[in-house]
Amino acid sequence: MQELLERKKGLHRKVLIVDDEFIEREMLGKMLEGLYEIKYAGNGNEAVDIIRDEKNSLSLVILDLHMPELDGYGVLDILRSDNELRRIPVIVLTSEKEAEVKSLQLGAADFISKPYDMPDVVRARVQHAIELAENSIIIHETERDELTGLFHKEFFFEYGKKIDIQNNNMPMDALVLDINRFHLVNELYGREYGNKVLKKIGKGIHKLVSETGGLACRFDSNGFYIYIPHDPDLKELLSREIKKMNENVGDSNISIRMGIYFDDGSMLNMEQRFDRARLACNKLRNSYTTCYDFYNEELHSKELHAERLINDMEKALAEKQFKVYYQPKYKITGEKPVLTSAEALIRWSHPEFGMISPGEFIPLFEDNGLIQKLDRFVWTEAAAQIKRWKDEYGVYIPVSVNVSRVDIFNPMLASILTDLVKINNFSPEKLLLEITESAYTDNSEEIIDTVKRLREKGFKIEMDDFGSGYSSLNMLTALPIDALKLDMKFIRNICTNNKDARLVEIMIQIARLLEVPVIAEGVETKEQMELLKSIGCDIIQGYYFSKPLPPEEFNRLITK
Ligand code: C2E
Ligand code: CA
Ligand code: CA
Repeated sequence: MQELLERKKGLHRKVLIVDDEFIEREMLGKMLEGLYEIKYAGNGNEAVDIIRDEKNSLSLVILDLHMPELDGYGVLDILRSDNELRRIPVIVLTSEKEAEVKSLQLGAADFISKPYDMPDVVRARVQHAIELAENSIIIHETERDELTGLFHKEFFFEYGKKIDIQNNNMPMDALVLDINRFHLVNELYGREYGNKVLKKIGKGIHKLVSETGGLACRFDSNGFYIYIPHDPDLKELLSREIKKMNENVGDSNISIRMGIYFDDGSMLNMEQRFDRARLACNKLRNSYTTCYDFYNEELHSKELHAERLINDMEKALAEKQFKVYYQPKYKITGEKPVLTSAEALIRWSHPEFGMISPGEFIPLFEDNGLIQKLDRFVWTEAAAQIKRWKDEYGVYIPVSVNVSRVDIFNPMLASILTDLVKINNFSPEKLLLEITESAYTDNSEEIIDTVKRLREKGFKIEMDDFGSGYSSLNMLTALPIDALKLDMKFIRNICTNNKDARLVEIMIQIARLLEVPVIAEGVETKEQMELLKSIGCDIIQGYYFSKPLPPEEFNRLITK
């Protein structure tokens, strides 16, 4: 681009004159002398060699049609079928009217008839052809993403809307394509590799839209938006295309997911279609078995419900609709289980919907940052509760709070927590911090920094949902953590499924290796508890001992 802009200043534009007649070459050369740097070729093959060598600096080719060996048509053909050479404009030299039409069809920018017109006319045509080509490249490049050659999103929406108007709202389908865990690809294999993957996928999309007559853009670095004329057999097309793209990428660790808004005649505008396709795509975020899904009414009503909860959140906080519950954790290494700590879990008692589980609203609030406010509320409550219990019963019961992945990016995190501890007058290790494993794998650098800082201040970190993320052993040994909390899903079938039991044993061995205690949560039965005890689990949390309780009820466990 830079090169082009400089060339555009008229400094050193290069023009190649291709003609087998020496005299003709020289005559033309003379007319353009002083205005351009002139190169000559005496036949088609020689011309193609020069064009290939100087493809980045050539501004124009002036091409005779009749030459021995490779003639002008042959050269045009080669230029137009090569992506890198296509941008170089060609003016053909001809003496027949018929040839003019044919060469324009072959992609020539203009023609100059022999015998030559007045030099001024020739010069004007040359200049005009060069400027047209340069302008169109500049437009092309500002409209398009450099890496994939697809549109930038602004131009994508602009052109898409134009298409809608021009075609009188012909039915169009909207597709949103994402790459699963792309940031991980970047992190594990490097940005360059990630770019290669994007390029390959971009190429597949390019082909898809040129075959279907649609358009596409790259969106938010690792997403793609595709707008194509409605196709009732879209399902088959997609299975085929996604398979092809996955094969092209050729890396089994990388997979594509796609959300589709299928035009059902409801006359939504382009943005609304893509909002819906995005929703369908996001729904697949944690699914590795389905690679595409369609937007539907059910999704729509869920979306409305989600919107409602998001809108209600601030008011709910002000009106104290949120309550913090506490679930006890018991140490089982001794003869009798001993209450050691509790986990703070949020509850929302909504005036209209009743009790809503955090599984329903936490992910919504994580998407838009609202979670930070809510978490801060929970931490504040939990810290105050630790003090209250100490005041009432004379003992400290450490409480673990959940720290969302979003909180990790808050530069004030350490000072917020430190202040809470100070205000309530206890030491930091009594407010335990649970961070889910997938947050570690998704943003390992940031998280390691943050966690180190927190530990320097005296906080203890528990890795939550261990086994559900993708930590490698290597990574684990480098991580600063103080306890591993096993993902509940392994505990559920631990007594009936041998594989799960083995997995839990392995995870406990890993914890031994890291010299940190193991917490099992979701323990519901005596058998589970005993099995876990027999394989060396240290702490247990679950319905077997108690459900999460409001503080008044938790008090009874303390007196017990
Ligand atoms: P989590 O951190 O893994 O919390 C454990 C979940 O397991 C809790 O669900 C708890 O009630 C449930 N549970 C405990 N024992 C048993 C059992 O024996 N059987 C079964 N089936 N479940 C059990 P809950 O309270 O619905 O919370 C769900 C998730 O929401 C939590 O998973 C956590 O990720 C998130 N969450 C809850 N409170 C907060 C919070 O204050 N802040 C943040 N950021 N996330 C929270
Ligand atoms: Ca937790
Ligand atoms: Ca957990």
